[in-house]
Amino acid sequence: MQNKYYPFINQPLPYDYQALEPFIDEKTMHLHHDRHLQTYIDNLNAILEKEPKLQRLSLTQLIQISGRLPCPLQTSIRNNAGGVYNHRFFFQGMANPAPPPSKGTLLQAICQKFGSLDAFLEAFQNAALSVFGSGYAWLVWGQRGLQIVTTPNQNCPVEQGLQPILVIDVWEHAYYLKHYNLRKDYIQDWMQVINWEQAQQRLEAGRPKQGM
Ligand code: MN
Repeated sequence: MQNKYYPFINQPLPYDYQALEPFIDEKTMHLHHDRHLQTYIDNLNAILEKEPKLQRLSLTQLIQISGRLPCPLQTSIRNNAGGVYNHRFFFQGMANPAPPPSKGTLLQAICQKFGSLDAFLEAFQNAALSVFGSGYAWLVWGQRGLQIVTTPNQNCPVEQGLQPILVIDVWEHAYYLKHYNLRKDYIQDWMQVINWEQAQQRLEAGRPKQGM
C-alpha cells in the first residue's frame, strides 16, 4: 500500500468508478471513495497535525498502537486510521471481471479450512449478515490459520495482530443507493467482484510476517 505515512492523501481507485457495474454502482463508488474515505483522511490528518510524535508511524502502526493511546485519542485514531486502512483495503480488494480461483495456496487453505470455496462464501455471507449496525466482515490469516472475523465501526483486525486477506464493508453507505436495505443482495453482488488475485497476494505477503 502506497502513502503509508502522514500526510495521507486520497489515492485514486485502481479502476474507473463504473468498473464494478452492474454489481456495485458508479454513484456509490463516487460517494464512498470521494466523500466517505476523504473524510477519514481529512480527520486523520487533522488529528496527526496536533500529535507530532505519531506522525512518524505508518498507517498500520497507528492501528497497532491505538489501544495503548490515552482515551479520547485512542478512539479517534482507531476510528480514523481504521477508516482509511479499511476503505483502501476494501477498494483494492475488488475487480471486474474477477474470476474465482481454480488453483493456488489461498484456494487450498480455504478448502482445507471450510471444505470448499462455496462453503467458505456461505460462511462469509452469514458473518457479513450478522454484523449489527455498521462494520466489516473479514477473512484474515492469524496463528490459527484462516479465520472469518467481524469488526464493528471502523475497527480493524490488524489491531489484534491478524493479517487481512479479504474484506466487505457492510456500512449502509456501501450499498444503500443501489440495494436499499437488502444487505444480502449487496453481499452476493460483492462476491462477483472479489479480487481473488489480490487476496492470494495478501496471503503470500501476510503468512510469513505482519504488515503491508
Ligand atoms: Mn465505507
